[in-house]
Amino acid sequence: MKRLTERVYGILTAASFINAYVVLQADAGITLVDTGMNAAFAQTITHSLAQIGKTLADVRHIFITHCHYDHIGGLAAVQAQTNAVTYAHAADAPVIRGEMPAPMPPLESLTGINRFIRTRYQPVKTAPARVDVLVEDGQALPEIAADARVMFLGGHSLGQCGLWLADEQTLIGGDVLINTPFGLRMPIRVFSPDWQMAQASARRVNELGIKTLCLGHGAPLVGNAGEAVARFIRRLG
Ligand SMILES: [Zn+2]
Ligand SMILES: [Zn+2]
Repeated sequence: MKRLTERVYGILTAASFINAYVVLQADAGITLVDTGMNAAFAQTITHSLAQIGKTLADVRHIFITHCHYDHIGGLAAVQAQTNAVTYAHAADAPVIRGEMPAPMPPLESLTGINRFIRTRYQPVKTAPARVDVLVEDGQALPEIAADARVMFLGGHSLGQCGLWLADEQTLIGGDVLINTPFGLRMPIRVFSPDWQMAQASARRVNELGIKTLCLGHGAPLVGNAGEAVARFIRRLG
């Protein structure tokens, strides 16, 4: 586990291919953000927490950025080992609960490789899990941290939300952007049901005055994220 800021740690697995994050707030206990792709990831989280002398039982809050399997696959296994409260947006909750597959874009909105993948993709089933608290944009979460707020970043999923720590200008943003070896990019289009909204959400990140950006995929940008995001948004046009 890598300490990224005063309060935020990254569980950065397999060269940051799939990340989860931990917010350690002295008076609020541990918040886990996302849970990896499967039950085995719960083990990874356990090993990571052990590095700071904690266990899964110390996790008090689980914030789910969005309903894709690589973020919720470990949730049921984690929930079985904690009494933590789980937070997610209402638009993504039915997927997390196992009631429906994650929405994809309409076939007619896609071309080329995205269209090809869309016609052949079989949704990955995840173990149904609880959502205890439905969150919405701007909601303060003082139980997670005094400065913690929900930042709606929909489009890549219909209910994607980031966790914004205002005092340190840190966003844990799910897949609002991905950080590739070639720099920041939009998330994969074929898994993003509302592309216009996804682009609006990327622009929203640029307007935050951000210092640190912790993403689901790729290395976190620590301290200087604002510049990189601005550069990317200029190219996006
Ligand atoms: Zn995703
Ligand atoms: Zn993802």
